[in-house]
Amino acid sequence: MSDNRPIVAVVGRPNVGKSTLFNKLAGKRISIVEDTPGVTRDRIFTEVEWLNTYFTLVDTGGIEPDNGDVILSQMRNQAMLAMDMAHVILFVVDGKSGITAADKEVATMLRKTKKPVILVVNKIDSQKQFDNVYDFYELGLGNLHAISSANGMGLGDLLDEVVENFPKGLNTEYSEDIIRVAITGKPNAGKSSILNNILGEDRVIVSPIAGTTRDAVDTYFEKDGQQFLLIDTAGLRRKSKIYETVEKYSVIRSMSAVDRADVVLIVIDAQEGITEQDTKVAGIAHDEGKACIFVVNKWDLIEKDNKTLGNYTKEIKEKFPFMMYAPVLFVSAKTNQRMNKILETVEYVASEHAKRISTSALNDVIGEAVMLNQPPSDKGKRLKIYYASQTDIKPPKITLFINDKQLTHFSYQRYLENKIRENFGFEGTSVRFEYREKN
Ligand code: GDP
Ligand code: GDP
Repeated sequence: MSDNRPIVAVVGRPNVGKSTLFNKLAGKRISIVEDTPGVTRDRIFTEVEWLNTYFTLVDTGGIEPDNGDVILSQMRNQAMLAMDMAHVILFVVDGKSGITAADKEVATMLRKTKKPVILVVNKIDSQKQFDNVYDFYELGLGNLHAISSANGMGLGDLLDEVVENFPKGLNTEYSEDIIRVAITGKPNAGKSSILNNILGEDRVIVSPIAGTTRDAVDTYFEKDGQQFLLIDTAGLRRKSKIYETVEKYSVIRSMSAVDRADVVLIVIDAQEGITEQDTKVAGIAHDEGKACIFVVNKWDLIEKDNKTLGNYTKEIKEKFPFMMYAPVLFVSAKTNQRMNKILETVEYVASEHAKRISTSALNDVIGEAVMLNQPPSDKGKRLKIYYASQTDIKPPKITLFINDKQLTHFSYQRYLENKIRENFGFEGTSVRFEYREKN
């Protein structure tokens, strides 16, 4: 069995309506603003559900390099990325402006892939614009759909076609039993070595399903009754040239993996220390509420005394003050040092990430915390916490029913978070807070 989720990539020139389509399919406006300092990005991956079929949608147009590349080379990269990672490709063109040279170029590339390509003629907002559609058959791509991302016309038929084109054997159902793990980190940090070490001989590795060998991006295995899915392992094994050389694309690749993961391993090269890419990926994993583990690899290369480990841990905690919850492991994929800790820790943080605590136990802890240290007040009015309840998992979310949102304060929230962690752990995961006023 494999748990590969189908991936659908959206390709097309700027302004043809890719983001509009993406948002429409995602069924919600997608937030662009991120909380973590230094991390600003468009959300370019989303999970879509169509008639109980789940798949991942990728907007490759959201990942244009910001170095002012010409459109054509951007589009080539988009198309390559799509051909590499997607199971179905949506090539979006502008039904109002007609075919352009860049469209033709991309069509030529896409005709070479064996993957299903669906040509999406967008901005056909009404029947009378239908005449424009036929011109696009010239691009030589079989399946054509006229849609309007703006008013939603044609989307149902398009989604039917997308779903019909998924290769057999992919998993389109949501399963809670599998721990999905993403191994991220900059090129050469040792991700592939760690992966191969984890997948050592004694584990049952189910080979990729027939027919999808080249496309399989995830590796499924079981250990001691627990099922794991290592996301995007093909990307690691194959060492695709374009991603490994262009740092931006290796970040994208990581982002895709992070999006689909429960647990994110942030692999750091011990000799090199924390890089900007690590900071980015960690920030994203945190923002998306994933369970996180820092894995400092190549520990064999470090000259150590009895302070080295402590100092290194401190440095990581200082660089990622918003991720104090994440365990730090020091390993060597080469000498095997502490490698057995990795899956153990993955399992542990995954269970913390999915943990539910009872309302009564939570309220006991909050009640005690409030007695020890009174909530903040402003102009004689004090924050009252009536009760608390855990309202979500992955990541855990605590909803506090209170008298007045104006009276909440970050430092008091942090105090409560510490109390909650002292009592319930939640190691490896962020804990979210939500306030609701109740009168
Ligand atoms: P992207 O650059 O490909 O992501 O394109 P956007 O989604 O940002 O859309 C570019 C412009 O086209 C925006 O002004 C959209 O409002 C407009 N647009 C997108 N879809 C449609 C559509 O179906 N009909 C019309 N008339 N305009 C659209
Ligand atoms: P990736 O690009 O992140 O997948 O990194 P690789 O797994 O390909 O490793 C990059 C290089 O580092 C290779 O030459 C590995 O042999 C080496 N390497 C990986 N892990 C370790 C380690 O724990 N110790 C040492 N000394 N070298 C390592």
